[in-house]
Amino acid sequence: MRPIKDSSSRFIKIRCPKCKNEQVVYGKASTTVHCLICQKTLAEPTGGKSRIKARVLEVLV
Ligand SMILES: [Zn+2]
Repeated sequence: MRPIKDSSSRFIKIRCPKCKNEQVVYGKASTTVHCLICQKTLAEPTGGKSRIKARVLEVLV
């Protein structure tokens, strides 16, 4: 199992690929996460863990 998989249960800092806004989201968010600035979908729930659709900058332990 790759380390990146473990990040799904933590808070992660991501950067919106569209407007470069950085925000922190929970890796197991059960709802779709949108960018606070441009409303682009940044993460989607997929059976318990989020599918991140933005660049992950940092995993916050
Ligand atoms: Zn954005």
